Amino acid sequence: MKKKQWYDYLWIWPILYFALGFFNILFAWLGMIDFLLPLFIAVMGGNKFFCNDLCGRGRLFAVIPKTFKFTRKKAAPAWLSSKWFRYGFLVFFAAMFCNVAYQTWLVFGGAASLKETVKLFWTFRVPWGWAYTAGTAPEWAAQFSFGFYSLMLTSALIGLILMMFYRPRTWCVFCPMGSMTQLICKARHRGEEPDR
Ligand code: SF4
Repeated sequence: MKKKQWYDYLWIWPILYFALGFFNILFAWLGMIDFLLPLFIAVMGGNKFFCNDLCGRGRLFAVIPKTFKFTRKKAAPAWLSSKWFRYGFLVFFAAMFCNVAYQTWLVFGGAASLKETVKLFWTFRVPWGWAYTAGTAPEWAAQFSFGFYSLMLTSALIGLILMMFYRPRTWCVFCPMGSMTQLICKARHRGEEPDR
């Protein structure tokens, strides 16, 4: 049996992340690690080490069905892995991230007030005021936290729903970070097919 590595336990990370953000939204900033580290590894190493070994979210989607003995193991619809959907979703996700940054900017400049809510599926605003105490951080920092946590939670929920209906890591098929690192690896290797 393959010896367990420290990163085999990284599935704990997303659970910890969402738990911390539940009690204090400022911990949402830690999610930037999941944004920047895969890009850094892809640019510097030209590989998908993050996706293959380090991604807590990918590991969590694999661990849950194994632990609770459920998954339909059904292949996801082919359009989910089509180029137009993967890159379309990447553009959409990037636009949503830019919107988070824009809302942060508005609060920073005093043009908007802090919204202490988490927006699920880019639609439903859930009050989350208990997770922020006024004055503990600049309001713009809190606004970014609420927005970024919304993105992270929404994408995790989509991944969990897909995990229940299809193969455990179906989210990885069109995950924006996976698509971005794949593009970077392709550019680095010019024509070689990186593993996904
Ligand atoms: S594709 Fe996304 S969720 Fe899957 S392992 Fe890579 S970064 Fe993690």
